[in-house]
Amino acid sequence: MKFKLLSLLMLTLVISLSAVNPGFARLRVVTTLPDHAALAEYIGGEQVETYSLSRPLQDAHYLDATPGMIVRIGRADLFIKNGMELEEGWIPEVLRETRNRAVRPGGRGYVDASKGINAIQVPERIHRDMGDVHPSGNPHYTLEPVTSIPAAENIADGLIRIDSANSDYYLENLTRYIEESQELLEKWQAKFEPHQGTGVIVYHKHFDYMLEALGIEVVDAIEPLPGLPPSARHVAQLLSEYDSERVSFVLMEPWHDARVSQRVADGIGVELVTGCPTVGSCEGADSIFSLFETNAQKILDALEN
Ligand SMILES: [Zn+2]
Repeated sequence: MKFKLLSLLMLTLVISLSAVNPGFARLRVVTTLPDHAALAEYIGGEQVETYSLSRPLQDAHYLDATPGMIVRIGRADLFIKNGMELEEGWIPEVLRETRNRAVRPGGRGYVDASKGINAIQVPERIHRDMGDVHPSGNPHYTLEPVTSIPAAENIADGLIRIDSANSDYYLENLTRYIEESQELLEKWQAKFEPHQGTGVIVYHKHFDYMLEALGIEVVDAIEPLPGLPPSARHVAQLLSEYDSERVSFVLMEPWHDARVSQRVADGIGVELVTGCPTVGSCEGADSIFSLFETNAQKILDALEN
């Protein structure tokens, strides 16, 4: 009770301080994805307020630049993008239009969070007939916490650049992030131990970092090329090629065609799992860690049913 009263007093003090002291204003962090907003909240704690330009159930591959985005970026102290060409269709235009030079590439408030990510699926050559392929490899690194560690480091670097007074605080949070990521992955790798080498057909290669870390093999994809909807012929080919010996479940993102995914799952005789593609897209998935756990649990439930 005493403690409760004390924290209430402290809270009131903090709130009143932040109201009267402009030096206490939080840093405005604008990100392209909800996942990077969650990362920035973890590393920046009470020093930041975050805003994601895309909503949790929007496929950030295919957005359009809007005046609202330009206003948001104009007021940002720090801008964080996913990188690896994920937002190439819209973010260059937003950055061109803003007068806020600090958040443009090369500015101190600009963070490409993908720098240093150990990328998978980096194509050796790029052809026009490869679909919407990413030259830097699979950009969906936030779905697996250990893979995302360089992103957390890039965000800490960015925060320290614009707010060096709190560098110890950001570095402490970063250290905690790294430790928690590793613990979490180890815990789930142990749970997936009996399922090593299990096959999955995915719709889009969205969850591949986490699947790979958990020992699940992506044997094929419903979209024949990234960004290309499946033809009837491609679906028929999947059904003739795979059975439930080879494939244990089908995994899709909620923004893709559920009917075609269900047809593939039914044809093979396995469960269709709808994954949570971003932080905030499923109940309880409100951080990078709970996003991973929600997806891992969904897959485990399908495998152990
Ligand atoms: Zn993608």
